[in-house]
Amino acid sequence: MIILEKAVPDSSSTAEIFTGLPTENDILDEIRALAGGLRRQNGGAPENLDFTVPIGWEERVGYLDGRPIRRLIIFLRSTGCEWVEKTGGCTMCGFYCATSRGREVSAEEYIAQFEHVMNAVDLGDYPIVSIYNDGNIFNEKEMPVAAIEKICSYIDGYRNIRKVVVESRIDYSPDEHVAKMKKALNGRQLEVAFGFESANSQVMNLCINKGFSANNFDHFHSRMQGMGVLTKPLLLVKPPFLTEGEAIDDILRTVAYCVSRGIAYVDLEVTTVEKNTVVHELWKNNLYRPPWLWSLVDLLQQCRERFGDRAHVYVSPWNYSVESLDWARNCGKCDAEITGAIERYNCHFDTAEFDGLDCSCREEGWKKAAMVEDPRTIPERIREQLTYVRGARLSSQ
Ligand code: SF4
Ligand SMILES: [Zn+2]
Repeated sequence: MIILEKAVPDSSSTAEIFTGLPTENDILDEIRALAGGLRRQNGGAPENLDFTVPIGWEERVGYLDGRPIRRLIIFLRSTGCEWVEKTGGCTMCGFYCATSRGREVSAEEYIAQFEHVMNAVDLGDYPIVSIYNDGNIFNEKEMPVAAIEKICSYIDGYRNIRKVVVESRIDYSPDEHVAKMKKALNGRQLEVAFGFESANSQVMNLCINKGFSANNFDHFHSRMQGMGVLTKPLLLVKPPFLTEGEAIDDILRTVAYCVSRGIAYVDLEVTTVEKNTVVHELWKNNLYRPPWLWSLVDLLQQCRERFGDRAHVYVSPWNYSVESLDWARNCGKCDAEITGAIERYNCHFDTAEFDGLDCSCREEGWKKAAMVEDPRTIPERIREQLTYVRGARLSSQ
């Protein structure tokens, strides 16, 4: 099944023609109506935001030639993801709050943000630099190509930087950007990280409102390969409307899909509760809980057993450019220990870090949660949960 008619692709997009079932169209309309309404509650961006200063930067582990190295992530203060304007955005994503919320950020402002980081940090210490704009670097409306071209030419001034990572949805035409970036980067590796989320089209489009399918991903991946650009799929751990057990299975199937396409490195993005999102609304009504840390441990162990060195599964730290109201957790007593083990695992993809970890909540909490089954179809449960949420919103007015 393909659920793509509701996608609002760029005119140059390769998105497919929709053939989904009418009931699914209606459900998608309901999700988008809720998502769009919640976005409007955000209002405009604060007046005093300085768009010559980035949101921030942080060091994380990265990999080159199979070895862990230092990676710098730069979070630019951006115009914001156009998908939010068009459809209300993905159900878990609250990044829009950290952006200008549609006010155009100029090329000069983006360049000034990068210069700000250059003045504060020695970029030469980082073989990998990731430049994230809480949206789509290949969308000219979100980030002028002149800005990213200039930033890449700055990077060319640092001999030690060997790889640059940017992020984008896959439905924007990347050719002009890629050509200019590659020229300015002078032979350095270029990688595009993108929210693939799930290989299951119902999860991708109904649970998340992503607006494309695995077929679009295949097309994008081969197009990028043809241009000498690496791709990094970001997979979403525990989208809304899935049980704990389904969420684990969904990641395992999606990693298998990526492995079948020859992709050996994927990032897990762990759902957090961000303000004024569909996930937030479900969470407020006890219809959503972020994943158990035990689920992360379990799926990393299962990935190791099933895929061995064919899959390197990195867990992105769940601190984003916007505040989270809730995040992956266990009972509270064992959380720090498990999170520490995941951080150590990230350095070498060594699941031995999880050997011997235990807590009473593993049996009493997580195992029970992972065994819960929901007999309803995904469209049925979405419809029921949205009806409940709408009722709760009406009665609180
Ligand atoms: S997850 Fe990505 S595509 Fe979806 S709303 Fe957020 S920034 Fe846009
Ligand atoms: Zn515990």
